[in-house]
Amino acid sequence: MIKRLVFTDLDGTLLDHDTYEFEQAMPAIERLKDEGVPLIFNSSKTFAEMQELMAALGLGPSPTIAENGAGVFLPKAQFERSSAGWLDRGDYWLVTQSESRQHWLDLIHAFPRDELSIQTFDALGAQGVAELTGLSVPAARLACQREFSEPTSLQGSAQAIAAFVDFIKSHGGQVQQGGRFNTVSGDCDKGRSMRWLADFIAQTEGCQVNTLALGDAPNDLSMLNTADTAVWIRSAHRSIPAAVSNGGFVVTTRPGPQAWCDAVINWLMADN
Ligand SMILES: [Mg+2]
Repeated sequence: MIKRLVFTDLDGTLLDHDTYEFEQAMPAIERLKDEGVPLIFNSSKTFAEMQELMAALGLGPSPTIAENGAGVFLPKAQFERSSAGWLDRGDYWLVTQSESRQHWLDLIHAFPRDELSIQTFDALGAQGVAELTGLSVPAARLACQREFSEPTSLQGSAQAIAAFVDFIKSHGGQVQQGGRFNTVSGDCDKGRSMRWLADFIAQTEGCQVNTLALGDAPNDLSMLNTADTAVWIRSAHRSIPAAVSNGGFVVTTRPGPQAWCDAVINWLMADN
């Protein structure tokens, strides 16, 4: 048996980059529901944000990958705890090896600010995050409920930014470029957590898996490289990286949720 799985980025992919709307994606979401294909969010967003979005889309509990691969959340209703290391998060198990958000905040604060301005979500607060992102204040509050990583806005020369990135790396972390922010986290990525989850589902259910992944930013490349079918959602805000042109990915002609919808339906209709 082959089980199909869809892994998707959110901002600029399933959600419009500027308005966060998803209405145009609904026909494909309905088809995924009808055909029983899990839609697995794999985003830099927090678990709290993604739970709210799942409810808005009318989706039931589903495995979810939060904060750029730092945490994998598995619904207790679908998965039995298979390791004592899994953490209890209400209706979900949390599988993670990441350091805490505070660990990264302490490190960010230890970096000299003479030549680089660093804005963190922690310092901005929900109000500041709302102003910078266009999110509503309640939505920004969910975005601030982080467990493993800290989005930063960096203002300075390319050299100063590179020095910051090197500093974080030298302390075992990384800085990943998303649609709006550079997120500081431990050594994790969307691709490795997707691979772990796809393999875990295959093993638990005794099946093979066929995966589709969709994304629009450099922090999606590890996920796209892991998928059987990879779709790069064109962005009005950035050019297509060479890794996409060379990677054999499908590249959409349009941006955002309409392109997402068409790509998912094409994949469902193909002989996978
Ligand atoms: Mg994105």
